[in-house]
Parts: sequence; C-alpha cells; structure tokens
Amino acid sequence: MTRVIAIANQKGGVGKTTTTVNLAASLAAMKRRILLVDIDPQGNATTGLGLEKHGQKTTLTDVLLGEAHVTEILQKLPDSSLHVLPGSPEVTVAEVKLMNSERREYRLREALSPLRGAYDYILIDCPPSLNMLTVNALVAADGVIIPMQCEYYALEGLSALVGTIDRITQTANPELQVMGLVRTMYDPRSNLSRDVSEQIHAFFRNKVYNTAIPRNIRLAEAPSHGLSVLEYDKGSRGALAYLALAAEMLRKDSSKVAADGEQAW
Ligand code: ADP
Ligand code: MG
Repeated sequence: MTRVIAIANQKGGVGKTTTTVNLAASLAAMKRRILLVDIDPQGNATTGLGLEKHGQKTTLTDVLLGEAHVTEILQKLPDSSLHVLPGSPEVTVAEVKLMNSERREYRLREALSPLRGAYDYILIDCPPSLNMLTVNALVAADGVIIPMQCEYYALEGLSALVGTIDRITQTANPELQVMGLVRTMYDPRSNLSRDVSEQIHAFFRNKVYNTAIPRNIRLAEAPSHGLSVLEYDKGSRGALAYLALAAEMLRKDSSKVAADGEQAW
C-alpha cells in the first residue's frame, strides 16, 4: 500500500528539501519504491537530484491544471528505485490559476491517484508557505513529517501549520496524520540546540523522531553536485543520520503507532 507523505513547515531554510531528498534516497537504498514530488516552485529538490527545473515541455503545472497526465512528467533516476515529479518555477502559475477553480485543493491528490500502488512511499517537498500548493500536498497526503531547525524561534509560527493541518483533517482529508517531527541541523555541543530540542520534545512528546539530523557540511554540499548525500559521501554523518531516520520511520510506520482513526495529533 502506498503511503503519501508531505514534508512541510512554512518556515524556509529548516531542512524540508534536504530531508525530502535524502529520506527518499535512503528509502530507495532500502529497496523501497519511492516517488519524490517537488511542488515547491524553487525546484530545489529537482536540481538537488541532478534534474533540470527549467525548460521542461510539460510541467507539474500542466498536471495540476488537468492539462497533462502525471506519467508525462515522471522521471526515473538511473540505478535507483527513486522516481521524481520535477518542480519548476512555473508552479506558481498553477497556484494563481487554481485560486478560482473547482476542487482546487484536490488537484495533486487526483493527479497522484493513478500512481497509488506503484510506490511504497510518495514524498512531497512543500514550499515555505501555507499556500494552495502546500494545501494540495496536505490534502494528497496520508501523513506529514515536519522538519524543525534546532535554533531560536523554532516553534514560532508553528501554530499556523498546526491550525492548517487541523482544518484539513476536519474537512478535505480526515485521514491525515502527523507522522513525526524531525530535528534538523542539530549540534549536540550547543546549549541552544539542546534547549530547543527539549522544547520541541515538551511540545510534541512522542511525535518527535529519536533520530536528529546533525549539522553536516556534506548535506549542504551534495545538492550542488546534483546528488543525494548517499551518493555524494555515503559514510558522512549526514548520510548515516538520514539512513537512521528512514529506518526509524519504516519501523514506526509499520507498527502503526498512529492507529487508524486516531486524531491527527
Ligand atoms: P528548506 O527546504 O526548508 O527551505 P533546505 O533543506 O533547503 O531547507 O535547507 C536550507 C539550507 O540549509 C540549505 O542550504 C541546505 O543545504 C542547508 N542544510 C539543511 N540541512 C542541513 C544540515 N543538517 N547540515 C548542514 N546544512 C544543512
Ligand atoms: Mg525547500
């Protein structure tokens, strides 16, 4: 059964794209069939995997507007079970055009429905905003993973995301679950990192993944080579952390900690 996961946090620079790309690559390395959907107009996940975000003939925009079938834009990475629906700056056009259209929140869900069954996990990299594109991702998803940077103000603004998730569970997508929070750019030697980590635990308790992603230069370098960190430096602390996160996610997901019918939180 396919699980669709949105990687969301309306703050920019918290590690959404890094988490989406490297969690996807880690799950693919564990022989899972993975689709990464890049719905962020910045297209960072797309270029970070060595794909072109400019000059596509048919784009995710056409798919969201119902003018192309999802298989027309599907790209397969060589030697991997990782497939990609690439992003492009034009996705902002879809966002604007969708504002006045019917079932505007369901476009991604409907576009992905023919692919359900073909993958173990579909991971959606969301933009840094709670706009219609993020709403489309949350309506399409079964679960949300929230990356949080372990620094001051990490929790600020989170109530807006929590509110959006609650609203979507009460309306368009009652199945949506918060799967977990991932602490990113964690530095165990920094008092601030530890303090913020404790605050995140106090607030979200057992929803916080045990695996924290350390600050690691390899994670920041890998995208400029168009590679996941596993391909770029598979022995790096960043690569090992994302492999550990993937293993923890698979374990928690299969034991179904969040039982069916439970509240999102
Ligand atoms: P978002 O998608 O939430 O905007 P990104 O994943 O693009 O965030 O990360 C923001 C910046 O921080 C990028 O330059 C990325 O390479 C860097 N980065 C992300 N996670 C780490 C990490 N664990 N260690 C070091 N740099 C990181
Ligand atoms: Mg991003």
